[in-house]
Amino acid sequence: MATVKHKILILSGKGGVGKSTFSAQLSFALAAMDFQVGLLDIDICGPSIPKMLGLEGQEIHQSNIGWSPVYVESNLGVMSIGFMLPNPDEPVIWRGPRKNALIKQFLKDVDWGELDFLVVDAPPGTSDEHISIGQFLQAAGLDGAIIVTTPQQVSLIDVRKEVNFCKKVGIEVLGVVENMSSLCQLLSDFKFLRMTDAGEQNDVTEWVLEYMREKAPELLNLVACSEVFDSSGGGATKMCKDMGVPFLGKVPLDPHLCKAAEEGRSCFTDSRCGVSAPALKRIIEKL
Ligand code: ADP
Repeated sequence: MATVKHKILILSGKGGVGKSTFSAQLSFALAAMDFQVGLLDIDICGPSIPKMLGLEGQEIHQSNIGWSPVYVESNLGVMSIGFMLPNPDEPVIWRGPRKNALIKQFLKDVDWGELDFLVVDAPPGTSDEHISIGQFLQAAGLDGAIIVTTPQQVSLIDVRKEVNFCKKVGIEVLGVVENMSSLCQLLSDFKFLRMTDAGEQNDVTEWVLEYMREKAPELLNLVACSEVFDSSGGGATKMCKDMGVPFLGKVPLDPHLCKAAEEGRSCFTDSRCGVSAPALKRIIEKL
């Protein structure tokens, strides 16, 4: 860890809010800025980082100074228990001490080399692993944590716990990201349906797009946003104000970001990620 300049922990109160997606895209972005980046996945029971970085089926190699990360590019190395599982469908049924031992090994025995940033994707919640990784990283000089949430109250209640966990164990909260804030899509990406009186749905996409192309082509570049999740309680912005932690920004629910994650790609090099990539960029620039 002595050769790693900055260490950032990515946390979430719940699973499925986009923590791994954010960790992966943050790592892609930092690598594209020519930093030397390591991405460590300690979500031992649900490691999705290998898939999100396009590294499924890869294996870790052992060198005489430790485990070698799997490289996406020369300046982006990844380590995950996902690389050690013979079968991706196999569950990892381990008790706390075994998980903690592996986390310790990931931090001590991986030959990261000189890194500008180590991004650590933690499991959701505030369990045994969080206490261990917090302690290990704090001893090695942790910069702080970024917490990812969605805007609805059920997610934010858990984020409050996460913030208080950080305060209790002395981890600085660098900020909170509100993911899947609203569903935002280019109008030209929509599927248009017309409901008949009998309740059938007719696909009239081509007809609508043709009409727009002819009558008002500028409409095709409009982004339509819809609040999918309830944010009437003020969402993460209000929660951050209440709890005195920085709010980093909102990332929309973007089908192209989901596709990029499914295919293990950076959304910053994908022109179709025109809605989510700028939002992620603004957040990363604040760090
Ligand atoms: P977590 O790490 O919090 O469990 P993931 O990062 O695995 O969550 O995300 C869960 C699913 O949601 C994944 O399929 C991911 O591609 C998708 N996803 C996450 N954030 C977004 C977003 N902003 N827009 C679209 N899909 C997203």
